[in-house]
Amino acid sequence: MNIRRIAFAIILIVLSSAVTFGWYRYVAHPVPVACRYCARPLHSNLMVTAEIGGKRAEACCARCAISEANQEHKPLRLITVHDYRSGHAISPAGAWFVEGGSAVSCDHDAMPMNEMKGTDAMAFDRCTPSTFAFAERKDADTFADRNGGSVLSFAQLMSEARYQ
Ligand SMILES: [Zn+2]
Repeated sequence: MNIRRIAFAIILIVLSSAVTFGWYRYVAHPVPVACRYCARPLHSNLMVTAEIGGKRAEACCARCAISEANQEHKPLRLITVHDYRSGHAISPAGAWFVEGGSAVSCDHDAMPMNEMKGTDAMAFDRCTPSTFAFAERKDADTFADRNGGSVLSFAQLMSEARYQ
């Protein structure tokens, strides 16, 4: 009798938390504020929507998504990137990317983050080399002239994702 009650209570708790989670996840659609892969804050002019191994998520920058896909040995698709200049969502296929250079894309208070998502000396950072997306080639060129780095096409950028 007592065990039945306890079992019933447990089932009720599990069900209600599942419903709450489901509501939050699928109905409330919370706007993500942090990168799914590294938990750094999302910036409107840097964030990307990526699909890694078929799972879609928001990432802080294209580089972080490439790092994640390579670490997980999974194929990467970039769904949406944002023009660094305007913050507009653009299709990555027609975008230009500035890689490397002196500008740091991910705001991390000069605290580097290593492969294991811990802090470390500046040897590896999952968001480095910085990768900025631009809708217009001339904006990418201007940015690269100012900060260094090289201008890449989408195909060139995606060739860095190793498990396609
Ligand atoms: Zn990230």
